[in-house]
Amino acid sequence: MDYDFKVKLAGERLKVEDLFEYEGCKVGRGTYGHVYKAKSKNEGDQKEYALKLIEGTGLSMSACREIALLRELKHPNLINLQKVFLSHSDRKVWLLIEYAEHDLWHIIKFHRAAKANKKNVYVPKGMVKSLLHQILDGIRYLHTNWILHRDLKPANILVMGEGPERGRVKIADMGFARLFNSPLKPLADLDPVVVTFWYRAPELLLGARHYTKAIDIWAIGCIFAELLTSEPIFHCRQEDIKTSNPYHHDQLDRIFNVMGFPQEKDWEDIRKMPEHGNLMKDFKRANYQSCSLVKYMDRYKIKPDTKAFILLSKLLLMDPTKRITSEQSLQDPYFQEDPLPTSDVFAGHPIPYPKREFLTDDDQEDKSDASKGGQQTVQTGDPNHGPQAKRVRMAPPHPVSSSGMPQQGQVSNDYHSHISNTNVMYSNNSQQQQQNSFGMRYQ
Ligand code: AMP
Repeated sequence: MDYDFKVKLAGERLKVEDLFEYEGCKVGRGTYGHVYKAKSKNEGDQKEYALKLIEGTGLSMSACREIALLRELKHPNLINLQKVFLSHSDRKVWLLIEYAEHDLWHIIKFHRAAKANKKNVYVPKGMVKSLLHQILDGIRYLHTNWILHRDLKPANILVMGEGPERGRVKIADMGFARLFNSPLKPLADLDPVVVTFWYRAPELLLGARHYTKAIDIWAIGCIFAELLTSEPIFHCRQEDIKTSNPYHHDQLDRIFNVMGFPQEKDWEDIRKMPEHGNLMKDFKRANYQSCSLVKYMDRYKIKPDTKAFILLSKLLLMDPTKRITSEQSLQDPYFQEDPLPTSDVFAGHPIPYPKREFLTDDDQEDKSDASKGGQQTVQTGDPNHGPQAKRVRMAPPHPVSSSGMPQQGQVSNDYHSHISNTNVMYSNNSQQQQQNSFGMRYQ
């Protein structure tokens, strides 16, 4: 590249630290990065933003994937990527996204604590319906565009706080999402272990190699049950889950303890699952004879003749080919019955949930997805008694100077000059360099 042009470009490049105040305002840590609450230094812009700092340096496969997908996807129930910053000095990648004050992990935790104190126990019924409707609508949009989310869980379902989009669901964390219309290799070969265990569909636990959108539907069923009961339906103590083997005995045991052991007629192809041999060796049908979803939900006073239960049982069908689709779910009688779903899931009522707290560097690991039933080792396996994160409340950042703010949906010069150039990569790892190529982004 022409040297003068390069210098000129560097001078024009927008830097995240010049535009936003975010220091000390970390609000979350996911599998792929740290999330900060940010405020524009432009005094005219009072909006709240989230800045996601992608883990590591350079453009990893998952960062490319998340950016590529988020740039193209536009739906009211999907988190909206507004801008990408590539910081050349430290080779960091920042995503500017809309800020959502709440998420289902915190909302459910609030209700679980209330239950322990015998107060305002469950998530209100109307709110559960509105949440489910919007989650399904966002996933319907992804699925019609041939995209699987693959990591649906309460922590990734954000809800907007006070403001123009009050009470709107935003599905986040597309780090695992990918196109699935014509995979060159079985998707399981590319990422052997996906989806947090508690929300993982039985076909994945049995080693399915070509998985489908039915895995997202199973996870939505788990989230629905958790909203109805304030407990993770397939909660399982997990000691050593950093495994590349999808077969997980204890997680399957938990599923069968709730659902019963699948009958041959319920899931004919179970015999063809790669881990069927282990299943037959490790499990006895007789041990689960008295287990059923009806019995499990009855403990929470959800009766089998309610529309909520009927839809739940269609979302949690063991056989992925029989599981309901997002499109069919949206037409379900549950959504036609009063109370009808509302676009503000809080239905105009005051929001009882606390605002996000800022994390100190000490607790960043504790507050990671690991303590949310995440991908890494869960120390206690119980979100009620998970490792306690140290948190501090701090004043939100204040704007200090004015400078040009990017427009919504606009991508910075940096993005075009580096991401669209498939050969320019930061990483020294040659395999990663190859994978980073956007020519391969959808594999
Ligand atoms: P992620 O890496 O997307 O899984 O994010 C990790 C955590 O950061 C989430 O579980 C949320 O608690 C928080 N978070 C992610 N995105 C946002 C956002 N747009 N607004 C507010 N908090 C967020």
